[in-house]
Amino acid sequence: MFAKRFNWKIGLFFLIISISFHLLYLSYNNYQNIILDSAIEITSDNYNYFEPPRFREYYQEIIVEDIDNQVIIEDKLEDKSSLVPIKTIDYETYIIEIKKGDNFAKILKKAGINNNDSNDIIMGGKNIYNFSKIYVGDKINISYKYEGKKLTFLDISYQISEEKILIINLDNNKINYSIDKIKLNSELVYSEGIIETSLYKAMVDQGLSQIVIEEMIRIFSFDVDFQRDIYKGDKFKILFTKKTNDDGKTVKIEDPEYLELYSRGTPLTYYLFKSDDFNEYFDEKGKGMTKSLMKTPINGSRLSSGYGMRKHPILGYDKLHKGLDFAAPSGTPIFAAGNGVIEYIGRNGGYGKYIRIRHDSTYKTAYAHMKSFKKGLNKGDRVKQGDVIGYVGSTGRSTGPHLHYEIIKNNVQINPSTLKLPSGRNLNKEEMVIFKNNIYELNNKIISMQVD
Ligand SMILES: [Zn+2]
Repeated sequence: MFAKRFNWKIGLFFLIISISFHLLYLSYNNYQNIILDSAIEITSDNYNYFEPPRFREYYQEIIVEDIDNQVIIEDKLEDKSSLVPIKTIDYETYIIEIKKGDNFAKILKKAGINNNDSNDIIMGGKNIYNFSKIYVGDKINISYKYEGKKLTFLDISYQISEEKILIINLDNNKINYSIDKIKLNSELVYSEGIIETSLYKAMVDQGLSQIVIEEMIRIFSFDVDFQRDIYKGDKFKILFTKKTNDDGKTVKIEDPEYLELYSRGTPLTYYLFKSDDFNEYFDEKGKGMTKSLMKTPINGSRLSSGYGMRKHPILGYDKLHKGLDFAAPSGTPIFAAGNGVIEYIGRNGGYGKYIRIRHDSTYKTAYAHMKSFKKGLNKGDRVKQGDVIGYVGSTGRSTGPHLHYEIIKNNVQINPSTLKLPSGRNLNKEEMVIFKNNIYELNNKIISMQVD
């Protein structure tokens, strides 16, 4: 009897102990998860990764509309009679420019395609092309013929990228879709010039296009502070391949193979090295030139002054002003200087609209006085180097549109211009052999082109 009661008490005791240990374990586990969530570590390997096409995304404004919502609105559409056909042989041809707010259905409607056919065209091809991806300013060619109410001829073409064209036509009452490659011609271009007022102006003076200029500035924005590091008399050199269509129009430039920019008289030389795994720039010794953080985290071609220190004496880092200012027109895209996680996004006193990105356990960057943030960007979101995070403005304590940029090391703002950032990968022995040979051939090409 006594032994029985004793066992029951012991049993209850152990039950309570094990339940409380279990509860303790659960809450500890939860606590650990919280710690892990807020301390996302980014390895240096990870943030040296760099993807050039991302920088091009802001060149064009994309209209993205839900395909299911492409209901044709009857009112306010331009009457077809206001458009004059380009040619009428046996069919009518229209070239329609895409305007803001347009969608594919509206464009077909403008050309005079009726609602049912328009629906068939879009629905039938939605596995071949996402019709919500059309760009303002692009043109769509539409030719068609109705016999009575029946569509008997159709030929739609839309150039969806520099190298591809979407073709839709009618064959035996069946709508056919294809995406064809446009044949392009290649031309190697070498250009050099001396900077009088700004790199931008010097490149324009050499007849280089906006795309080439932005590409050059983007590549150097890891190493160069474009507001402060370029002086009169500095030089640039660039070698790149341009792709032209049969009309002679440049539709694409390849990543430049060689770039040189003098910054305060010191040359920075970049050679492109392509392998199966990466496509990056290296100096002549095979040292990677892609940095973990950018010195100019903004579209540098739009900076208001060429060599800022003399024109903007108040802009720049000093003991009182713990950041760098980049004066640029309102609306200029601002880039994430490196890969990281959004730690703060919102209004922040005198900083106005402000974003802070945490890159690793040591570095953070902050961006202030923004006009607006990139839509859909939230605290905790991961961003990649070069992603657009917002736009230049003058919110908070600011006298005019500019980006106030801070690099924060161990929670203290530091002077970005004196910062030595870790650079990207270096080439290994086998890669160096190929690389040296590439440089040799490249230099010969340049010499022959300079003679011309
Ligand atoms: Zn500032």
